Amino acid sequence: MIKAILTIDDMPQENTIPIIDYLLGIGIKPLFFAIGEFVEQKPEPVIYALQKGLIVGNHTYSHANLAECTLEEGLSEIRKCDEVLDRIYEKAGVERKVKVFRYPYLACGGENNKAYTDCLRELGYKKLDDTGVIAPGYIGNGWKFENGTNCSFDCQEYLLREGSDMTMEKILSNIDAAFGKEEQSKGQEHIILIHSHDLTDEREPLYYKTIVERMLKYKTEFKEPSFIDFWNLS
Ligand SMILES: [Zn+2]
Repeated sequence: MIKAILTIDDMPQENTIPIIDYLLGIGIKPLFFAIGEFVEQKPEPVIYALQKGLIVGNHTYSHANLAECTLEEGLSEIRKCDEVLDRIYEKAGVERKVKVFRYPYLACGGENNKAYTDCLRELGYKKLDDTGVIAPGYIGNGWKFENGTNCSFDCQEYLLREGSDMTMEKILSNIDAAFGKEEQSKGQEHIILIHSHDLTDEREPLYYKTIVERMLKYKTEFKEPSFIDFWNLS
């Protein structure tokens, strides 16, 4: 049986509230990462998440690739989203107890990575506790020592688009391979990535339910997120 933490990127969108209702209804507490400008345009789903006791993390202000932009732009992307989140927590009447960050495209800042570590540390950020994650790809990418929260199982459901050859059958067979074999899954912990995307819902209605149900079929135990410091990792 695999233990897992469900992380959901790119909120808020129209399907964010239905996702929250579905997950909380079956006892799963996801960790969200929000795009700052979306929060400004559509605050209600974020307030809804916060008032339900969920944590909403920073996914930059405009979903920027921090390995490709300048350091100045990257720092501004982090800080601007941080400020937007401060305001929305206040508006929701919820204390912002934990700050977490995820790089868009999991692109960890390239040569500016250390400068982003300093910035996130100054702002009081932590990362999702990944001490139980042993997936070779995650270890190989050095993500145990990263400042941002990455993932060890990317569902790739964001590829369900017109013109792409990704199908729900492929996504489910990837889940079968990773979660289905008792021997291989013993003692494993996964940080799972899906997205709150209205476009995906149009193409594949309730895709998040189909994915989570397949994981539950293998008795995956969804854990509540907990957090660790990242600046003393080496
Ligand atoms: Zn994203």
